[in-house]
Amino acid sequence: MAVITSEENMAHLDKHRETSRKLRDARGLTPEEAARLAREGKVIVLITCGIHATEIGSSQMAMEFAYKLVTGKTPFDADRVLEDVIILIAPTINPDGHQMATEWYRKYVGTRYEGGPMPWLYHHYAGHDNNRDWFMLNLSETKAVTKVMYHDWIPQVHIDEHEMGSRGGRLWLPPFGDPPNPNVHPLIWRGVAAFGTNMARDLQKNGFEGIAQGRDYAGWWDGACDNTPWFHNTICLLSESAEVRVASPIYIDATELSESYTEKSMRFPDPWPGGWWRLRDIVDYELALSMSLVKTAYLYKEELLYDFYRMGMDSIEKREEGRPFAFVISKEQWDYPTMLRMLDTLMLAGVEIHQAQEDFIADDKFYLSGSFVVLTSQPYGPYLQALLEIQNHPDLQREYPGGPFVPPPYDNAGWTLPLQMGVKCDQINESFKVDLTKLDYVPYPSITPPQGTASYIVLDSRLNTSFAVVFQLLQEGAEIYRSKDMVTGSGFETAAGSFVIKNTAQVGQALPALLDKWHVKAYGLDNIADIEKAPLKKSRIGLYRSWRANMDEGWTRYVFEDLAIPYTSLRNEDFKKPTRTTNGSVNLNAKFDVIVFADEDAEIIKQGKPSPSSRSARFYEELPSEYQGGIGIEGVEALKSFVERGGVLVTLGRACDLAFQELDVPAGNVLEGVDRSEFLCPGSILKVKVNNQSPIGYGMPKEAAIMFYQSMALSTQVPTESWDRTVVASFPKDDILLSGWLFGEDVIARKAAVVDIQYKKGHIILIGFRCQHRAQSHGTYKFLLNALLYPEAQ
Ligand SMILES: [Zn+2]
Repeated sequence: MAVITSEENMAHLDKHRETSRKLRDARGLTPEEAARLAREGKVIVLITCGIHATEIGSSQMAMEFAYKLVTGKTPFDADRVLEDVIILIAPTINPDGHQMATEWYRKYVGTRYEGGPMPWLYHHYAGHDNNRDWFMLNLSETKAVTKVMYHDWIPQVHIDEHEMGSRGGRLWLPPFGDPPNPNVHPLIWRGVAAFGTNMARDLQKNGFEGIAQGRDYAGWWDGACDNTPWFHNTICLLSESAEVRVASPIYIDATELSESYTEKSMRFPDPWPGGWWRLRDIVDYELALSMSLVKTAYLYKEELLYDFYRMGMDSIEKREEGRPFAFVISKEQWDYPTMLRMLDTLMLAGVEIHQAQEDFIADDKFYLSGSFVVLTSQPYGPYLQALLEIQNHPDLQREYPGGPFVPPPYDNAGWTLPLQMGVKCDQINESFKVDLTKLDYVPYPSITPPQGTASYIVLDSRLNTSFAVVFQLLQEGAEIYRSKDMVTGSGFETAAGSFVIKNTAQVGQALPALLDKWHVKAYGLDNIADIEKAPLKKSRIGLYRSWRANMDEGWTRYVFEDLAIPYTSLRNEDFKKPTRTTNGSVNLNAKFDVIVFADEDAEIIKQGKPSPSSRSARFYEELPSEYQGGIGIEGVEALKSFVERGGVLVTLGRACDLAFQELDVPAGNVLEGVDRSEFLCPGSILKVKVNNQSPIGYGMPKEAAIMFYQSMALSTQVPTESWDRTVVASFPKDDILLSGWLFGEDVIARKAAVVDIQYKKGHIILIGFRCQHRAQSHGTYKFLLNALLYPEAQ
């Protein structure tokens, strides 16, 4: 990140950052003091580029932008402007991806693949979803920028520069479209509109055509780089330039432009007529808009700083009708370490968290001393409220009565973090009094193994991190069982599917560090003769990785690595290698016990390209020959034999189609062929009932919240011959929506969400949704984790 400002400011950066910090927090700052700070302070502007690595324009722009600013080749008096503005410019916030995209592009220049897609994700785990990580903060890059935004620099203005499709306008600028998230301060929307309009005007004056504003990108979601700052009282903008083929120019005939971009409208008063479109054009548009941003920041410097203070004050003092007083996270949790992780995530984004020093009552509920309290009255109150509350997305309009909805939310309609993470968090509306201590860090408990020399150690299946400990111990050859029911002992009671570990010298040596690292409590037990249980073996896991850069596969890798779960990536050729069984198919059982397919179009898995009827077919582009194809018929046969011989096959989301189409499982997708005008659920949280006595439901509560995002609802039938099935999770008959927006709940009511299909000696685990969605939905990880540790039949 480069810091560009006057020499004088450069010598006092700490002071200016301190001013920003003071203005953010109105507590202890009078309006007079704030006015003085606004007068004397400097406005901090952050420009982030290149998060999506193939959208290279902004990174190219950044260098020229910096050069022009420091040499005074600007549309304004740079010396004067830089006296009042501190510019932070991050030329790329995905540097590894930038490198990958550049190398790939250069390799194929001059061939038919010039400017085409890469066969891997341009962020190691997330690909394009690196711009969906901004409240969960899983990725190092997100964490680094978040640190700049809310801890180190605290900018008042931010823009994230992107590229979009090339058949519409040349540039999209804010204001954003409906609906607005109710937690965002209206002054943010006004500020965003002012900056956006000034940009459009400055560009228009300089002859730039085809600039669109409003509508396309909504102000609802809280998950992208350009969204989360709104909730931190930072004016944050997004720009989207029409793309080229990475760096190669394109020619767009006038007839190829989308119809809505051929006519003049108030949001699009100067259509672009079509013609050549080059990387240089993108750089020029972005240079102009970035200069305009700096100019506006300069012109309104004092107001921007004072408004920043004012919005912070409103976040602290304004108790609008319906605004909760606090959120209380009780000490009694299903999965305590996961709850602590949620607190960590909130604190990384600047949220203040308190811990109660005594028992208390709030909204008529009793809470134990040690419970966590998140007061909404704090500088980042809008942010924490947007994450902790239930989203009620407004109803969508239809194109015509009974017709399709327009427009569905740009991304998720609902994302409530405690629901996603399976954390109990109560919204408290009435104010209450209790002795609170503000936390500087999350108080992870220090854990020691049970005292004495118990013959067995028990770990509770309710904790995601228990699985991490078990995977480690299995690597070291420990003898481990899963209980078929709850386990009780002196002073403890754990859920069905708990782990019973033989306490050998080796286990005793490894255990203290593992329990402490994963914050897992362990219990001692001497006699396990009465416990119904099944042994676990060291599970060898394969995760399929196609050449079509599948983000859900990347997130699955992230979850595995996050929990230290050993796995091997399986490529197409691994389904074709010559380790044969006697009947001639590829022997996958020789290397794997579990094979996982992340959410992906089953046609891509089979043949490397989407089915012609799918919505992604339009965007399909061929890859060089070594990256073509899928697992093929041979791979499908190998999978069938793998299951027959005792393997566990896991399919997530759309990958379930592979089981429906090729393996003839007695189950199907009830949403197959259902029109979007009858059922629509754009990324929302839904309720399921769970059979937590079944091995795939172990450790889950009886009622759970799942993230439904381009997901399936499953039907099952009475099986025949070699088949059997257990419905593990299903939608209730009504009140299915927990957070977000859902239309047509009748279509999925009483249908299954997770099914364990038994076929000959093995299992096919159908999980109709992404239970590890973007490494956010910790509350449903266990459906996948259980499949990885399916106990052996005895
Ligand atoms: Zn982008």
